[in-house]
Amino acid sequence: MNAIFSGKLWNHLPPLPASVGLDAAGVIAEVGERVVDFRVGDRVYVNPWLTCGQCAYCRADEPMLCSSSALQGYFGFFPTSRPQLEAYPFGGFSEYMTSSAQRLVKLPGTVSFDQAARFGYIGTSFAALRAGKVGAGSTVAINGITGTLGVGATLLALGMGATRILGFGRNPNVMTQLKALAPRRIDTLGLGERPIADWIRERTGGLGVDVLVDCSARSATSAVTLDALNGLKRGGIAVNIGALTEPLSIEPFRFMNYRWHFQGSSWFTTEEGQLMADMAGVGVLDLSHLRTQPYPLDGINDALEAIKARPGGFVNIVVNPDR
Ligand SMILES: [Zn+2]
Repeated sequence: MNAIFSGKLWNHLPPLPASVGLDAAGVIAEVGERVVDFRVGDRVYVNPWLTCGQCAYCRADEPMLCSSSALQGYFGFFPTSRPQLEAYPFGGFSEYMTSSAQRLVKLPGTVSFDQAARFGYIGTSFAALRAGKVGAGSTVAINGITGTLGVGATLLALGMGATRILGFGRNPNVMTQLKALAPRRIDTLGLGERPIADWIRERTGGLGVDVLVDCSARSATSAVTLDALNGLKRGGIAVNIGALTEPLSIEPFRFMNYRWHFQGSSWFTTEEGQLMADMAGVGVLDLSHLRTQPYPLDGINDALEAIKARPGGFVNIVVNPDR
């Protein structure tokens, strides 16, 4: 939120003044007359992914590719996103907001609103792991494992049945906590300690990993991603969900020879949000490791300030009006 409203990035801001706030979760206060699957009192997460419903992609049933997409309470991806932001002008920091029923995720009673407020990040990681076809016995590498996306990817990969989760990052304390979650499955490496690809191959019988999830921060260097790419198995899939902007110099011949894939992924579908909520509801996705740092509704500015301190991947800064 701080970065977006600095106005220095490429995003298209909603008409100002705007009501902002991403990843809202709460109780339904009122339903429209054509709503059949939701009732007043239902606990839900609002997937903020807004689409136009009429571009070539939407008409082809590819809403994640919508060429006028926007995130409710946040920003538009294109100049043409403005009508979507105007149609749903209330962000998560409002007392009440509107949403179409199609974007609602039903929350099991065991998933708290504070945990659901993390779904944007966890869902982004979930979509990446699904793009990488992660399942029983998969081996996964995570670049930037100590950040919010990286911790989410780790918790999910554990639940999805990955046998090896090899992460690299900068925060040694978070890496120690991550390793403790499943010492036989998770291993971590501090960036700069040694070449990543060699380290990955040593831990995968020389093969390399099935999937690399890249969560590099905007400030990261492409050399780390390049090193990690070389730790992919033949036929492996690299999925980028990070904000790395430094150009990456790849050797297409190797991609041909190794049958490697490199793809980007952004956000997640409401279906994926529901799968995730259901997994969290029964503990397949164990969110109990996340710690909430709550702020009251009138403490929003303190919350935005607290984010700047980069508390690390396990901490969830949430504005919760019930606190
Ligand atoms: Zn569209």
